[in-house]
Amino acid sequence: MGLIVIATTAIAFCSNPFLLGAAMLINGMMFAHLIELQHECMHGHAFHSPSLNRVFGVACGIFMASSNAHYRYGHLRHHAWLGTLRNLEHFNYRFANLHSLSGFTRAFFDLSRYKRVARILVCAFTGRMVPGVDKPKANREIKQEYLFYLAIFASSIAASIYSTHLAVIFLLA
Ligand SMILES: [Zn+2]
Repeated sequence: MGLIVIATTAIAFCSNPFLLGAAMLINGMMFAHLIELQHECMHGHAFHSPSLNRVFGVACGIFMASSNAHYRYGHLRHHAWLGTLRNLEHFNYRFANLHSLSGFTRAFFDLSRYKRVARILVCAFTGRMVPGVDKPKANREIKQEYLFYLAIFASSIAASIYSTHLAVIFLLA
């Protein structure tokens, strides 16, 4: 967590392109590592307590907006249906057209993920079931976790705007 704070601070305040690149690389590696830790929580391997696994699983997913409950729901089905046509991955990377720049870029950024998260948030606000999730408890938890991530995202934007206003007021004073 300390590495993420240091790297993010460097990204916010540093103008040296080499330091910026190093900070982004560190953050990327740490975010990927957190998804691995979330994988352990989601399988129930990290702690004996299911509640602790969920709390830390949700915390690990904050930076990638990766819901612990959604990952768990999809990933356990992936394990159950491996080798069959029903097998789907939670992180569903595209492997088509990787030889072209546009195909590689689309796969690299996996922009469809943002659309998927937005669709789930719409379901959370309208009371509809999350597409592809037929268990009520999983539906409830998935919506709770994405709404929690939305609240953190909105709060951080509000805090940024507020602190910018404060900085402008201090500069003018
Ligand atoms: Zn697994």
